[in-house]
Amino acid sequence: MVQKFGGTSLGSPARIKKAAKRVAAAQRAGYDVVVVVSAMGDSTDRLLGLASRVAREPAARELDQLLSTGEGVSAPLMSMALSELGIAAVSLLGFQAGIQTDQRHAKARIVGLTPARIQRELAAGRVVVVAGFQGMGLEMEVTTLGRGGSDTTAVALAASLKAQACEIFTDVDGIYTVDPRFVPAARLLTHIAYPEMLELASAGARVMHPRAVEIAEAYGLELHVRSSFHAGPGTIITSEEAIMEDRNRVRGIAHEEQVARLSVVGVPDRPGIAASIFLPLAEADIAADVIVQTASHEGVTDMSFTVSSADGRQAKRILDSVAQEIGARTVLAQDGLAKVSVIGSGIRGQPGVAANMFKTLSGLGINIEMISTSEVRITCIIKADRIKDAVAGLHQAFNL
Ligand code: ADP
Ligand code: ASP
Ligand code: MG
Repeated sequence: MVQKFGGTSLGSPARIKKAAKRVAAAQRAGYDVVVVVSAMGDSTDRLLGLASRVAREPAARELDQLLSTGEGVSAPLMSMALSELGIAAVSLLGFQAGIQTDQRHAKARIVGLTPARIQRELAAGRVVVVAGFQGMGLEMEVTTLGRGGSDTTAVALAASLKAQACEIFTDVDGIYTVDPRFVPAARLLTHIAYPEMLELASAGARVMHPRAVEIAEAYGLELHVRSSFHAGPGTIITSEEAIMEDRNRVRGIAHEEQVARLSVVGVPDRPGIAASIFLPLAEADIAADVIVQTASHEGVTDMSFTVSSADGRQAKRILDSVAQEIGARTVLAQDGLAKVSVIGSGIRGQPGVAANMFKTLSGLGINIEMISTSEVRITCIIKADRIKDAVAGLHQAFNL
């Protein structure tokens, strides 16, 4: 069994000891246990804060080196707490656990996993505690998997070790219809399908790292998300086929603040224009999200898309020079936006869902700046100062 504990669940020595008891119980139940830990409490944020006090733009490589120390603290502490309970345990950093990644600092992807050491330790009867969120790129470079990436460490290990169960212990009771800290009326879901969970996670629900959900789906691995503070049923993330309830409706709402919009205005409309705008952004590793191109008028068009606010300034710089090259009129940037998404397998082929979403937002006097859809998601970009009203209003409108 793989058990993953998030930061809040390890926020103090007392909480680490409590988590260790959960691990002990799993071992007593007969499992070989691999524990994946996040950094204690908000220590990753604190490390980022330290970096920002010594440098304006710290190098990505050094940031990874720094951030990986957070999990480097919690893993040995968990191992010690287990020993204290009389359980043989050993902690491993990402590279010792055989987690190989590509070279993209701060957003590395796991490209290979060699769990030989873990298997040897398990065979020797030890609980293996693995530092989450980190891996090793070429030339033994330390990499990190992106914020929230310990989930992905856990799921990748569970897949590679063919674990019978993968439990994600966190600071809420499971997956809710909406962030329960944002909308108190949120309802706990007993099950959620991989595609729905992936869309929720990608649309801003922090509770699961999107990459973890992708890996779980690819390997058909059920995930059990539950509270680290008390025994509750939690939520099972599984295949659509396994879920009989609630097939035909919206299942959840996600939101994201800190969204910026960039518009390249007066773009000559000819083949290759979109590529010339988005290739340089991709090279800079900036993800463009909601993309809208207006209908061409007299041979020119406007191209708008969103990026996270953190990438806004760099994206503007890149686009300013692209605009000159392709002869676009100007580049406009607007910050202070937010994204709200309704998600559910039942959205497929049901035009009424989009109509209901737009009607609800208009009823609240909220202007929709941009719209995008996928098979199981409808997303609207709105002004950030109305995001709370939008999320709460939609939660009610869809009877969640
Ligand atoms: P951990 O440190 O355990 O990984 P995170 O902070 O990464 O925990 O994720 C848990 C948080 O995700 C919750 O505290 C909650 O505020 C937030 N969250 C956002 N959307 C949801 C949702 N739909 N269901 C549950 N939690 C959510
Ligand atoms: N400690 C890392 C973070 O805060 C990874 C994780 O918690 O999953 O993002
Ligand atoms: Mg997390």
